[in-house]
Amino acid sequence: MTETTALRTAPLRARAEIDLAALRANVRTLRALAPGAALMAVVKSDAYGHGAQQCARAAVEAGATWLGTATPEEALVLRAAGLRGMRMMCWLWTPGGPWQEAIEADVDVSVSGMWALKEVTEAARQVGAPARVQLKADTGLGRGGCQPGDDWAELVREALKAEADGLLRITGLWSHFACADEPGHPSIAAQLSRFREMVAYAEERGARPEVRHIANSPATLTLPESHFDLVRTGIATYGISPSPELGSPADFGLRPVMTLSASLALVKHVPGGHGVSYGHRYVTPGETTLGLVPLGYADGIPRHASGAGPVLVAGKWRTVAGRIAMDQFVVDLGGDEPDPGAQAVLFGPGDRGEPTAEDWAQAAGTIAYEIVTRIGTRVPRVYRNAST
Ligand SMILES: *Cc1c(COP(=O)(O)O)cnc(C)c1O
Repeated sequence: MTETTALRTAPLRARAEIDLAALRANVRTLRALAPGAALMAVVKSDAYGHGAQQCARAAVEAGATWLGTATPEEALVLRAAGLRGMRMMCWLWTPGGPWQEAIEADVDVSVSGMWALKEVTEAARQVGAPARVQLKADTGLGRGGCQPGDDWAELVREALKAEADGLLRITGLWSHFACADEPGHPSIAAQLSRFREMVAYAEERGARPEVRHIANSPATLTLPESHFDLVRTGIATYGISPSPELGSPADFGLRPVMTLSASLALVKHVPGGHGVSYGHRYVTPGETTLGLVPLGYADGIPRHASGAGPVLVAGKWRTVAGRIAMDQFVVDLGGDEPDPGAQAVLFGPGDRGEPTAEDWAQAAGTIAYEIVTRIGTRVPRVYRNAST
């Protein structure tokens, strides 16, 4: 953090600019799309590579009342950084996890099975205060969550017993979609009706959750009947569409938050027939100029985008020439001679002529989630438009 601040005006090799005004606007847009629900900004994995603390603060300023993380450690770091007063929830627990710390930090914990329920009630006994527990149902994702039927019946029964003993509060009943980014997929309706059944089962036996929730970004954008009491938006908070088939960010009134750029480290003339980068997978078709971009797969630039990733240099789209190396790659500038230090923009919102993270996802055969999340710690984040 201090490093980022100190370097803000220095000539950086590369930087990921994070537009917090865009993030706040995205949160307001998403809240308007789900007016009956509270909004949880999902800030796991360092806010999908954008910086958890800054993004969490900006999201709360724009009306997010919950913050979501995968691991308890991610939530505890945010609390320790002074993010208090909003609800926080984490869902990825392994045996021996920091249950006591989560209870003391007023973090909601997700429980998917009996081992976790036992550990959290024991921790609550130690702390002398009830845990805030959200029971997770597997309504069809086939990943985390409690199976319907006997498993759910046992988990609900034992959680209600622990609640009666003052060891926990059942604050939430929740689940997660498998195919929300494919509107009309039959699993969506199946998961929704299974969710309603599992919620009704728990409520009929006495559960009084503060929130029931299942919607991620694609469901928040396309499926109002899935909003319930709370929507958990990750990728849309950062202005990226969950899938290009659903629409572009602009179609939903969203704006990408991250712009990744680098300063050209070298511009040079080479003859035709010159092999470029490891393996010589690119050979110059004629006399040309090459630009050296000081970013590589160690920075999260996918090596799979070798020969394909787009970069805006001096007003023109160029393509990665040959292989992306650990720290650098080359673009063929076609005879243009920008000065060393000229900006190479890998991706941004897309409305200044630059490619987008979605373009890189297509070039690498992956999803835009992975492109932004993998941008490494060697790339300083430079925050724009912080409101305070
Ligand atoms: C990551 C995650 C989300 C957010 O998903 P997006 O598609 O990025 O909105 C929501 N809920 C859970 C359980 C998650 O793990």
